[in-house]
Amino acid sequence: MSEPTRFDGHAIAPETEAFLGQTHKLLIGGEWVEGSGEMETLDPATGLALTTFQTGGKAEVDKAVAAARKAFDGAWGRMTVAARTAILHKLARIMEENATLLTELDILDNGMPRFIAGLTTSNVVEMIDYYAGAIMRIEGTTIAPPRHIADETEALTYTLREPVGVAGQIVPWNVPLSTAILKMAPALAAGCTVVVKPSEMTPLSVLALGQMICDAGFPEGVVNIVNGLGADAGAALSEHPGVDKISFTGSTATGKRIIAASMGNLKRVSLELGGKSPVMVMPDADLELAIPGVSMATFFLQGQNCMAGTRIFVHESIHDQLVEGLAGFANSMTLGHGLDMGSMQGPMISDAHSAKVMGYIEGAKAAGATLEAGGEKLDRPGNFIRPTIFTDCTPDMAVTREEIFGPVMAIQKVATTDLDELAAMANDTPYGLSGSVWTKDLSTAHRLVKRIRSGHVSINCHGAVGTNIPFGGYGESGWGREFGNEGLDAYLETKAVTARL
Ligand code: NAD
Repeated sequence: MSEPTRFDGHAIAPETEAFLGQTHKLLIGGEWVEGSGEMETLDPATGLALTTFQTGGKAEVDKAVAAARKAFDGAWGRMTVAARTAILHKLARIMEENATLLTELDILDNGMPRFIAGLTTSNVVEMIDYYAGAIMRIEGTTIAPPRHIADETEALTYTLREPVGVAGQIVPWNVPLSTAILKMAPALAAGCTVVVKPSEMTPLSVLALGQMICDAGFPEGVVNIVNGLGADAGAALSEHPGVDKISFTGSTATGKRIIAASMGNLKRVSLELGGKSPVMVMPDADLELAIPGVSMATFFLQGQNCMAGTRIFVHESIHDQLVEGLAGFANSMTLGHGLDMGSMQGPMISDAHSAKVMGYIEGAKAAGATLEAGGEKLDRPGNFIRPTIFTDCTPDMAVTREEIFGPVMAIQKVATTDLDELAAMANDTPYGLSGSVWTKDLSTAHRLVKRIRSGHVSINCHGAVGTNIPFGGYGESGWGREFGNEGLDAYLETKAVTARL
């Protein structure tokens, strides 16, 4: 194994280099303040340290929540709709100007390939503009007044949509900037103030964003950033009595802890959790579409993707042809540092996560699944696991049932085309986040989609998420929806008002 070199020998932009050299503090009340601890963040493609960053716990979360409350009751709460819209658009323009920095920080911190990081940077700019534009469309309704008042006098009943208050937002490591923005943008548009806790493994892009928020001129305390461990800063935020809402993206196990922690003040809770999404390949599927499409359903973002389609059900009549194509695609994928333009797949986020994924691979072999591609780690620094495909998987195997969060595909051969039977197989999971159906027959496609218990299903594509399209899970994949109007609704309360006239 060769010794790692800085960023695998690739150059980074001067602004990224300068950012890595800075001291990274906590953003509380509009100022960068000292934390009580310090951690190191690594480039997962080389295992080398990128920089250190300061962390906080309960004391810092208390200060951040107090700052957010002050801003909510003060400058942000009083700001006109036009001014709130303008400042969000201004932030989007600053982010656009700093797109290279934001993109490179997510590549370095997370390991994602450049084609994905570039896409997420442009998507988050779009998301801020989208929610800035939605502020003017926050609307209540007029309703017939209650009879006991309307019988006596003229009356008026209407509803107001009001911000839920101070929002705590807890973010995972797999798409750091994107997940932070898809929480912050609707919250700020709704008029909330926020305390964001990035993942301790990927703090950098949100820290850079923090400076852009300061530069855009947001009033102090509207956005606060407290890095730290989940068990410290994350737990303190989720149980804090001054937080009105928690929005969490991460594992189902942590999601359940968040629910328990939220009970003290019955704060509102949104959860975007894990998945084990089904991919249904019908006998008439267009294999030219399905081979790359199903491959990327599993391997996109090195499989560290909540909506990954990892349970493949393929009809026996096309099974061998599809498997041959998928194995060819997997074997052709270039693994490498995300800064490398040709890289299609990056490393696992950490040694521990890589060991977990390799454990599932060894477990699948031992359980009798047939290895068709991959199944091993590259002999180089970083944790690069080859895109891995298993056939002969059965419903009871761990590789079929559990979220692996790595580049591991579990294929089951099916003999039926009965839609109810297929749906029963697809739905044999506690999760329900995503899924896809591959067929040329649109009637079959829509009838099967209707039977799949999942928040987001695609036809002849997979994971077709978009700023304006609601996204979220059934079952143990979560509570609520993000993106689109529903993403904004999640930060609004409804107040009903009746007036005797
Ligand atoms: P994780 O649950 O370990 O951590 C997520 C965040 O929660 C981190 O910021 C972490 O510090 C924090 N945290 C950990 N313990 C906490 C606690 N007790 N209280 C409060 N906060 C705590 O998840 P992860 O490993 O970072 O991310 C991978 C998981 O996220 C996968 O299961 C994946 O499916 C899920 N995910 C879901 C979506 C979605 O939209 N549904 C998107 C991305 C990732």
